[in-house]
Amino acid sequence: METSPARKVAFFTLGCKTNQYDTEAMQEQFVKKGYQVVDFQEYADVYVINTCTVTSLGDRKSRQMIRKAHRTNPNAIIAVVGCYAQQAAEEVLSIPGVRVALGTRNRSKIVEYVEMAEATESSINGVEDIMKVREFEDTPIESFDGKTRAVLKIQEGCNQYCTYCIIPYVRGPIRSRKPSSVLSEVQRLAEAGFKEVVLTGIHIASYGKDLGDTSLLELLKAMHGVSGLERIRLGSIEPNLLTQEFIDCVRDLPKVCRHYHISLQSGCDATLKRMNRRYTTGEYREIVHRLRKKMPDTAITTDIMTGFPGETDEEFEETYNFVKEIGFSKIHVFQYSPRKGTPAASFKNQVSPEVKEKRSRELIELGHSLELAFMKSFVGKQVSVLFEEEHPDMKGLYEGYTEQYVRVTAPGGPELAGMILPVEIYEINRETNSLEGRVVR
Ligand code: SF4
Repeated sequence: METSPARKVAFFTLGCKTNQYDTEAMQEQFVKKGYQVVDFQEYADVYVINTCTVTSLGDRKSRQMIRKAHRTNPNAIIAVVGCYAQQAAEEVLSIPGVRVALGTRNRSKIVEYVEMAEATESSINGVEDIMKVREFEDTPIESFDGKTRAVLKIQEGCNQYCTYCIIPYVRGPIRSRKPSSVLSEVQRLAEAGFKEVVLTGIHIASYGKDLGDTSLLELLKAMHGVSGLERIRLGSIEPNLLTQEFIDCVRDLPKVCRHYHISLQSGCDATLKRMNRRYTTGEYREIVHRLRKKMPDTAITTDIMTGFPGETDEEFEETYNFVKEIGFSKIHVFQYSPRKGTPAASFKNQVSPEVKEKRSRELIELGHSLELAFMKSFVGKQVSVLFEEEHPDMKGLYEGYTEQYVRVTAPGGPELAGMILPVEIYEINRETNSLEGRVVR
C-alpha cells in the first residue's frame, strides 16, 4: 500500500528570542501531527509566520514574508501568528493567502486552526482579547536538536506600560510559567546534552509576581541544582531587579553567567521620565557599581533608543556621555518608531528621521569602541568557553562563547562541541569580532 507523502510546513520568525521559542514550540506541534518541516524558501503546504510589531519595520517585514510565502505556493495555507497579528488581525487576514490569524495566545492549537481553515475552505480569526488572559500558556518543548545552548521561555506579558511600547497591549498582563514546568524542561534539556539555557520572556524581571510564592531568584536557585546544566543566562532585565540581595545571591550561583543585559533606553533622566521608565540614571549607575563590585568580570550590555519624542541635542548628549561612562560591553541601538495606540505616538516634538539616524550612527560607533575595549581586557588571560560549532569559513577552527557572551575561536574539531574548556586568549580578530585563542589542555 502506498503511503501519501508527509505534508510540509515552513516557518519564519521575526523579532525577539521569545518569538523564537514560540516558533519551536509550534514546530513541535506540527511534527507530532506528522508534518515535515522544510526551509522557508521551499515549497510547503503550510507557512507559519511568527510576527513582530515592536517597530513599523517589524510590521513591514511581516507583510513581506507573508507575500513571499504566497508567491512560493499560492495554494498554501498561511497562518500569521504573534504580535502583529494580535494588533491588526483584520489587516493581516486581508493579505492574499492568509487563512489563519492567531495572536499571542492559542499557539498550542495552531495545527487545529490550520486544518480547520483547510477543511472549511475559510479564513479564521483566532485572535482573542489578550488583556483578559491571566494564565501562562504552557507550550513545553519536548524534543530538541543537538545544540549546546537552548532558549527557555519562562514568562509572558508586561505591566510596565513604557509610553513608547506596544508590547503590553499585544502580549497582555504578566503571566509566569509554573516553576515545576520550567524545571522539567530544564531537566529534559540537560539530559539532551544542553549545557546552557537562556531564560527569555517579555519581562522576566517580573517572573513569579502573579504566582505569589516565587521569584526569578528562587527559580534561578532551583535551576542551579539541575545536574548537567552548566550555564544559565538571563535575557534582558530591568535595572530594578538587581537589588543588593539579588546580587549577593547570584554571586553564589556560579552557573548564572556573568552577563547582564540591563535595559537602559536613555541615559537622560528627563527622557526616561517621558518614557515612563521607572529608574533614574543615578539609580542605574548605582546598580552597575554594585554589580561590578561583587562580580568584577561581569559583562553589562544594553538597549538604547534614539530619537524619542522631545529628545533634544542636549538630552542625546547626556545619553551619549552616560553610555560612555558606564562602559557597556555591547549596546543595541534602535530608533524610536511611533506605535499607534501608545501615548508617545501623539507626543509633541517628534524627532526627524535624519536626526534619529545621525544619533544612532554616533551611538553605534561608540558601542563598537566600547566593545573593543572590553574584548581587549581578555587578551593574555584564560577564559572558559562553551564550544558550539565549527567556524563557518575556516576548517579546523571551532567557535564558542564565554560566560560574558564574547565569541571565541580556537583550533580544534568536532570533539570540542558541547564542551566547556579553558582557552588562553592571544588576540582579537577584528574581522570576525571574536577573540582568538588556544585550548589549554
Ligand atoms: S518594560 Fe517597557 S519596553 Fe519592556 S516590554 Fe514592558 S512596556 Fe515594553
